[in-house]
Amino acid sequence: MEFSKLGNSGLTISKIAYGNWINHGGKVDEDTAKECVKAALDVGITTFDTADVYSDTKAEEILGRSLQGIRRESIELCTKVCHPIGTGQNDKGLSRIHILENCHASLRRLQTDYIDVYYAHRFDPTTPLEETMLAFADLVRQGKVLYICVSEWTAEQITRGAALSMELNIPLIASQPQYSMLWRVIESDVIPTCQREGLGQVVWSPLAQGVLTGKYLPQKPVPTQSRANSLAGKPFFHKLAQRWMNDNVLTAIQKLKPIAQELDLTLAQLAVAWVLQNQNVSSAIIGASSPEQVRENALASGVKIDIEIMNQIDKILEGC
Ligand code: NDP
Repeated sequence: MEFSKLGNSGLTISKIAYGNWINHGGKVDEDTAKECVKAALDVGITTFDTADVYSDTKAEEILGRSLQGIRRESIELCTKVCHPIGTGQNDKGLSRIHILENCHASLRRLQTDYIDVYYAHRFDPTTPLEETMLAFADLVRQGKVLYICVSEWTAEQITRGAALSMELNIPLIASQPQYSMLWRVIESDVIPTCQREGLGQVVWSPLAQGVLTGKYLPQKPVPTQSRANSLAGKPFFHKLAQRWMNDNVLTAIQKLKPIAQELDLTLAQLAVAWVLQNQNVSSAIIGASSPEQVRENALASGVKIDIEIMNQIDKILEGC
């Protein structure tokens, strides 16, 4: 496993991180979840990503149980706040009350004394940003949170957050956006803004939720065990990945196979390696429904893809 510094900070994270959205507390049972975490540790992954909202807080609990017995200082534990986690009037957003209450609840669920990286999962337009950043600053000063990051904020929101973090003297060190061969919107403004402000990228869904593994074939039924089947019609897969489940995109992905073979990689490894070629990307968060997937995808760490091959990939995926 290779490692990188996150943004301009001193924090070192594994270039491949393991995330437990949808799978823990959802598609996979707890024993399999624990095997996936063990496989991640065995391949050298040290960075674990979860959120309060994943599987209605169950994902944090399962990750907490799966990591019992591991030396706390040997891993980076990352979680998030913002999406609604209850029906109460303050069970959502980035108000002071919700950030502080939720952080304490996450610490209990994760069975830890501190969170290494605490993310604002989205921007909250209903709360003054000054209140949000001050709440994060208080958690940092109390030692309950070590670093602050944001997820899916616009370039303008990141600029405002970075200015306040400077004023408050707290480390705002990364953005967590969606990024893959099929979803490159951050290249135009989020990445240049983050470079200017000293933030790195920890990117999610590098496999476009599994679509880039090449297991979904044009004109063929989706595999029974796949996320596209288990989440068929449900909002997450529908909203985020359904856009790629068409003949045009699925055919183009199959055309990447010879490139992967030439590099001695699987398509999944090629897709993860591709996001890591971007110098501003510090880590790619992979999801996995089995320990075999963790082991396969982790081999993308350290793979170098030369510019000619990157151009060939661009050409094949043009218009997707
Ligand atoms: P990926 O794009 O890596 O997709 C993972 C899924 O693809 C797996 O669960 C599995 O699904 C399938 N897969 C993975 N490897 C293989 C393989 N080798 N062969 C075949 N199929 C494979 O990432 P996710 O969409 O899971 O997101 C990763 C993480 O990013 C999340 O866990 C979370 O931590 C974070 N995230 C953050 C968000 C944010 O807003 N900040 C939003 C979403 C995710 P299956 O086997 O079921 O088909």
